[in-house]
Amino acid sequence: MRQTSEHFKQNVTSALQQPNLRVALDRTTSLLQQRRRDMLASFPEYERVREVAAQIKDHTLAHLDHYLEEFEHNAIRSGAKVYWASTPKEATDIIVGICKAKEARSVTRVKSMLGEEIGIGEALAAAGIERVETDLAEHIIQLAGDPPSHIVMPAMHKTHEEVAELFRRKHSSPTESDDVGDLVESARRELRPKYMDADIGISGANFIVAETGSVVTVTNEGNAELTTTPPKVHIVNVGIEKLVPTMEHLTVFVRILARAALGMEITQYTTFHNGPKRTGDRDGPEEMHIVLVDNRRTEMFDSFLRPMLRCIRCGACMNHCPVYGAVGGHAYGFVYPGPMGSVLTPAMTSLKQAGDLPNACTLNGRCQEVCPVNIPLPDLMRKLREQQWREGLTPSTFRHGLGLWAFVAKRPWLYRLGSRISVGMMRWLAGKRGRLSVLPGAGGWTKYRDLSAPQRGGTFMDQYRRSKRR
Ligand code: SF4
Repeated sequence: MRQTSEHFKQNVTSALQQPNLRVALDRTTSLLQQRRRDMLASFPEYERVREVAAQIKDHTLAHLDHYLEEFEHNAIRSGAKVYWASTPKEATDIIVGICKAKEARSVTRVKSMLGEEIGIGEALAAAGIERVETDLAEHIIQLAGDPPSHIVMPAMHKTHEEVAELFRRKHSSPTESDDVGDLVESARRELRPKYMDADIGISGANFIVAETGSVVTVTNEGNAELTTTPPKVHIVNVGIEKLVPTMEHLTVFVRILARAALGMEITQYTTFHNGPKRTGDRDGPEEMHIVLVDNRRTEMFDSFLRPMLRCIRCGACMNHCPVYGAVGGHAYGFVYPGPMGSVLTPAMTSLKQAGDLPNACTLNGRCQEVCPVNIPLPDLMRKLREQQWREGLTPSTFRHGLGLWAFVAKRPWLYRLGSRISVGMMRWLAGKRGRLSVLPGAGGWTKYRDLSAPQRGGTFMDQYRRSKRR
C-alpha cells in the first residue's frame, strides 16, 4: 500500500483484499458504535451540549488572534517558553533544535496526531534521537513499522492475535499468551524502564486554555503523565485550533470528547500542565516548551473550510463511515483518515494530490450526525468537489460524462427516450438471470459484483406519474 493520497484507488483495492483488516475493523467499529448508542441513552442533554460546543468553537475561531495572544501571555507567565511554527518543517526544526541543545539521546512521546502531521518521528530519526512511543497502540505500530490507521486507535487495523505474534517477536520478555491483559502487561514491562531513562518527553495537547495558559491532555493509560513528568524537559506540539477561552468552556469539551470517541463518560486521566515544576514541587519537568503549529490552519480559517477547525479529533466520524469501515485508515494515505481526513488532507496537502478523498463519500450524512461539534462534513466534501471542478482537476472522462448527462437532462424528451433505451438494453443483456456481470461504462462496479437489471414496471418517472393518477 502506498502512503500517499494520490494512490487512494490502488490502496482501496489492496485494502479490500486483506481479510484480517476487515475482521479488525468490524470488531472495533461495531463495538464503538454500540458504546456510543449506550452513552447517548444515559446522556439526554447531549444535543444541547453539542450545540454549545460548536458555538464555543466558532466564537474562539472568530477571535483566534486575541485568545492565542492571551494563551501565550499566560503560558509564559507560568514559566513555559512558547514558539510559533507556520509549517511542519519549522515545527520539527524547533523541536529537534531543543533536543539537540539538551543533548538528548532518547525521547518518550505521547500519541498526538499533530506530531504525526508534522512528521516528528522522521525528524527525530534523522537527528539520530531514539523515539519511544508510549501509548499502547502507538507502541504496537512502532514495533510493526506501520503508520497510524485511526486518530484515536492508531492500531485499529491489527487483530489482537496479530499483536500477540508481534510482541512475541519484538519484546525482550514476551508472553506466550494471546490474552489482552497479558499483552498489556508485556508492553508495560517493555516500556516502564524507558520512561525513566528518557531525556525529554514530547506530548501533544487535547486542548489549550487561554485564560490560564494550561495544556490539557486527556488519556486512558497514564502514559501522558509518565512521559511528561520524569524527564527534565517537556515539549508540547499543538495545533492553534485546540484553543478554548476559559476553564469553564473546557468542561463542555471534556464532557463530550470521551463520550464521542469511546462512549465513556470521562477518560481515566485529564491532566493540566501549567509550566515547569516550581520551587517545592517534588517532581515535574524543569523546562516546558510549547510549539504552536499553524500548518495551513489560517488558510482554512479564511475559507469555506473554517468549520473544520472545530474538530476535536474524537474519531467518531470514521467509526460510523461505511467507506472507512470497508477500507480502514491506511488507504487514505495521510495521517487523517475517514470523513474528517477527506476534508483535512486536501486542505493540508493539495486538492490535486488528495482529490480522490472528497469523492470517496456516499454523502449519507452519518459523519455529521455523530460529530460532537456538528461539522458539516458532507457539505464540505461537496464544496471541495465543486472547487475541484472549477479548477479543472476533475478527470476528463468524468467531465465529459457529466457534460453529456447535463445535455440530456436539460431536454426531457431526450432524457425519457435515453432512459427507456438504456433500461431496455440492460434487461436484454441481463436475460433470465436478471443480473449483469459486464456493463460497458460501469466496469468499476461489475468488476467486483453483479449489477441487478432494472425491474419491470417502467422507470421511476413512469411509476411516479401512475401514482399521481391514482
Ligand atoms: S470531524 Fe467531528 S466526529 Fe470527526 S474527528 Fe472531528 S470532531 Fe470528531
